[in-house]
Amino acid sequence: MLSVKLLGHERVAVREVPDPEPRGDRVLIQVKASGVCGSEMGSYRGASEHPSNTGHEVVGVVVDAGNATRLNVGDHVGVHAVWGCGDCRWCGVGQYTHCPDLRHSGGAHAEMLSAPEHVCLRLPKDVPWDDGVLVTGDGMGVPYRVSQRLGTVGGEFVCVTGAGPVGLGNVIVQSYLGAEVIAVDINPYRLELAQACGAAHTIDARETDPVEAVQDITSGAGADKCIEAAGKPETFRMALDVVRKAGVVMVVGEQSLVELNPSRDLIHSDATIMGSLYYHYSDYPAMLDLYRRGLPIGDMITHRFPLTDAAAAFRLFADGRAGKVILEP
Ligand SMILES: [Zn+2]
Ligand SMILES: [Zn+2]
Repeated sequence: MLSVKLLGHERVAVREVPDPEPRGDRVLIQVKASGVCGSEMGSYRGASEHPSNTGHEVVGVVVDAGNATRLNVGDHVGVHAVWGCGDCRWCGVGQYTHCPDLRHSGGAHAEMLSAPEHVCLRLPKDVPWDDGVLVTGDGMGVPYRVSQRLGTVGGEFVCVTGAGPVGLGNVIVQSYLGAEVIAVDINPYRLELAQACGAAHTIDARETDPVEAVQDITSGAGADKCIEAAGKPETFRMALDVVRKAGVVMVVGEQSLVELNPSRDLIHSDATIMGSLYYHYSDYPAMLDLYRRGLPIGDMITHRFPLTDAAAAFRLFADGRAGKVILEP
């Protein structure tokens, strides 16, 4: 089968490799679509060849059910990106994303994939493959869980810093739940996309001071909540500055060190800073319900490429000239 290999220094190869086998509790899936994720960019730009295939947002058809007890040949499934040991304290309380032995899926940018049966989410057959990648994966899962942790209600001002795929997912989910979304980025293409995904306001931070602009939009109050999806120290700072007193900053963009003044940023502003990681199997039924009711998660998809054009797909994504990019074997 064909499989994508990240060679380092922004080089991508599509190579012939042996087909995976449905050993043990694994099923064999014919991949129909996989999503390129921002988390793969480190490996794409890295100095060395990545040891495995980094794709982890994927849907397909079960073609060999192995020893499966729940899935059958022909079933449509999405594959969860992470899973736990099933045996530790965190797994025991259903919070397996904190499992010390957290396992990550991979190998999704390929024609075939094997995955443990218990991490496969059954996808209704009428859901298109590209939407399915988002509905069963990080694309919708991460922003959905953010919305649950934030308790978003209609009419709130929610600022989203960073309009890459994670930011766009949050724009779509927050807008659908009734928030008045303010998207901030420095990329005009992505700001236009944010508007198409439901943002009521967009701010180009290179042209306009975002803190002043958010003050104007919110009649001087500041945003009720800010979702930091850019992952830069300056956007983290911006998030703290755009929220109102007693506002909430939700951090989902991976960060290094940032500056924080507890007196100013927490005590005197009565603010809450929180983070959110992945989503849970248990979120999936509600995510599917929201999708069924019309949440337009597919609006973030801008490009589809055959698997053999993976190099072009990664180049476009890395250049910031795309929303979600889907590979189709
Ligand atoms: Zn991902
Ligand atoms: Zn565990």
